[in-house]
Amino acid sequence: MKVLVGVKRVIDANVKARVKSDGTGVETANVKMAMNPFCEIATEQAVRMKEAGSVTEIIAASCGPAANVETLRTALAMGADRGVHVQTDAELQPLAIAKLLKSVAEKEQVQLVILGKQAIDNDFNQTGQMLAALLGWSQATFASAIEVAGEWLKVTREVDGGLEHVEVKLPAVVTADLRLNEPRYASLPNIMKAKKKPIDTLTPDALGVDVTPRLKTLKVSEPPARKAGIKVESVAQLVDKLKNEAQVI
Ligand code: AMP
Repeated sequence: MKVLVGVKRVIDANVKARVKSDGTGVETANVKMAMNPFCEIATEQAVRMKEAGSVTEIIAASCGPAANVETLRTALAMGADRGVHVQTDAELQPLAIAKLLKSVAEKEQVQLVILGKQAIDNDFNQTGQMLAALLGWSQATFASAIEVAGEWLKVTREVDGGLEHVEVKLPAVVTADLRLNEPRYASLPNIMKAKKKPIDTLTPDALGVDVTPRLKTLKVSEPPARKAGIKVESVAQLVDKLKNEAQVI
């Protein structure tokens, strides 16, 4: 089966994001960028499924500006076979990305799409669900294990208080949770090989997708600074403060 993996370029998880001084968004100029961690997990899953023989080809897709090619190269170095870059400088919101990925999934005739459960920059957690709905395919979100069983996928989902085991019929969209796997680091030879793997460039117009934003960001602000803590002298004082000042016991 052919698999499509969606990979998003975001601010590196180790960098502290800064809000722009005019409150319109988060500063991305001169900031280290990387593949969204949940997309690394999605890519790793597809590569493991190919190594296990249940996947024949992995196509990595990324929607966004020219620099997204770097993110695609990372996916190719991890083991994806080809890249598809939907190039645009327009602001892309989950519905637009879902429409673009739908178009790519249909064009490439994949049977499975694996996405991250969420992008760590906007925390939308919407694209996979919207994509499954647009395609009319089965969906399994927050996957912590995936097993291929003929025409079905057995997916373990992390839910509050435990694990839920579901079966979804292919074709399907699955979103990857943190514990699905530990993504590999691309080796130097694989990084070199990835430079020769093909990347197709498309545009939203060529795919017939209108990416006009449907929601407007009114304001972005820093979280309130944490107040300094205090040291208590004794357990009795701690209990007293919890009871009378914080009023939590
Ligand atoms: P979100 O719904 O924004 O939290 O993103 C969930 C997942 O959708 C990500 O982990 C990616 O797999 C996929 N995705 C989001 N944005 C993009 C993008 N610009 N290009 C490719 N895939 C994306």
